[in-house]
Parts: sequence; C-alpha cells; structure tokens
Amino acid sequence: MKICWFDDNKLGVVVGDEVRDVSAALRVLPPAAYPGPLGDRLITHLDAVRAEIGTLVEGAAGKPVSQARFLSPVNQPSKIIGVPVNFLKHVEEVDADRGTFADTYRGSIENQGLFLKSCSSLVGPSAGVTLRFPSRRTDHEIELGLVIGRRASHVSEDNALSYVAGYALALDMVLRGPEDRSFRKSPDSYSVLGPWLTTADEILDPQALEMSLRVNGELRQRSNTRLMIMSLKRQIAWASSLYTLLPGDIIMTGTCEGVGPVVPGDVMECEIERLGRMDVGVHAGQP
Ligand code: MN
Repeated sequence: MKICWFDDNKLGVVVGDEVRDVSAALRVLPPAAYPGPLGDRLITHLDAVRAEIGTLVEGAAGKPVSQARFLSPVNQPSKIIGVPVNFLKHVEEVDADRGTFADTYRGSIENQGLFLKSCSSLVGPSAGVTLRFPSRRTDHEIELGLVIGRRASHVSEDNALSYVAGYALALDMVLRGPEDRSFRKSPDSYSVLGPWLTTADEILDPQALEMSLRVNGELRQRSNTRLMIMSLKRQIAWASSLYTLLPGDIIMTGTCEGVGPVVPGDVMECEIERLGRMDVGVHAGQP
C-alpha cells in the first residue's frame, strides 16, 4: 500500500495514477493522550489504519497524483538517523575533494558512527528546500528512506527488516563546511521524505532498487541500493544497539556518488525504483 499525507493534511492512498482521500480512516486512531508515547501516531497504528483504508478505498474521492501536493509521509519521528558515506564511489569522490568535504567523513562507517538530523528539518516534496546559507555550497544527497514500524532494541540482522514499516525517497540536504553534521544537515527543510510511504510488504528486496537524481533534467546521481557498503539490515541492527528505534523513526541510508550543489530555482527530480518519483524545488532563503 502507498500511504501519504497530501494537500491540507488529508490522508491518502495512491492507486495507480490517482491519490484517494481516505482521511476517514483516522477515526481508528486512539485519542491523543498526554504524555503520549514518542513516535509517529499514524505509523504506530499503521496496521489498524491500513485495515480501515481497505474498507474505504473503493468509494473514496480521488485526484491525479500530478495535481496533489505531497507532505512528508511521516510527521513525528523521534529521530532522523543518518548513515555516512555508504557507497564506495561516494567515498572516492569525498576522498578526492577534501577541500569540500569535512574531515569527519573519514574511516569506516563504524568508525564515523551514525549521526542525527533535527526532526524539525523534515518536509515533504511540495514544500521544497529553502537554502539557509544562500552564499555557501549546499548539496543534494538522494537516499533510500527507511521508516521503522515498531519498537526495536538490540535486534538481530536476521530479522531486522521485519521492523520496517515501509520505504520512501529521501533527500539528506547538506551545507558543506567545517561545522558538525548535525548543524549542517538540520536547518528547516533539509530533510525531505516522500512522496508517499510504500509499505514494506510491497518491496521484496529493498537492497536491489535503482535510484537516481537529476537537477533540471541533468543526471547527477545514479546507483542501486545493492551497492551500499553497510546493508539495511546491519544499519537497523546497529542503530538499535545504540538507541531504541520507535515507530516513525527514519533512517536515511546513505547517498551514492554524484552529490553536488543546488541553487534557487533548481528542481531536483528524484526517483527510486518501485517507490515513485518526487520533484523538489530549491528556494532562496533569507540572506
Ligand atoms: Mn547522507
């Protein structure tokens, strides 16, 4: 199932080229309580919501996907986890340009550790990316976005994928420079997720998906998730040994070679096999 938030916070399900309004399915959510559990409410109750969507989808009003404004399919992650330089050819381009890439991008992934992005940086494709430092280089990084579906602590690699709710396209936008990653990757809009969540049951092998990013039609990044240095299973298992993963937590699983700068007016055309396509505009921020 392809589940999304669209337009003015409508819950949608994508069927073919159409998005259908299944907001009524939210009636199965329990009332919000204080203090609520950390994590995304929709993802926490995804099984119940999916069942309700199933009863609604036939009669639900639809509109073309091309006319919908997609928001992030996750709203309340407890954390957005980043995996550093996870493709060999990206390691090579980083090593070849030490003037651009910080010294923190060195050594194995295990040596570098995972990093976190602010949850407030998260937007959907319709919002676009607003450059926070217009005079400095800001790069696109297309990544497979993995969304955790249930609480995971110290899980094994063998069953790690059973903790995944689904997958989406992700952009891990980054300001280049000397500051800490959490500073450079956390401004508003620097984490894009969309256009919808494709539930894990539809993706038999997430480790074999073509991915690409074009800027204004020019191919910049193209690879396949099978070329990751650290597998998705290992990412989940390792992350879960460090912090408890909660429903809605997002892992940005690493970008491939071809990262490069964007400027206001650019459109980043992102595609991942089976997960769809999203066009993300780049806007000028306040100087
Ligand atoms: Mn990244």
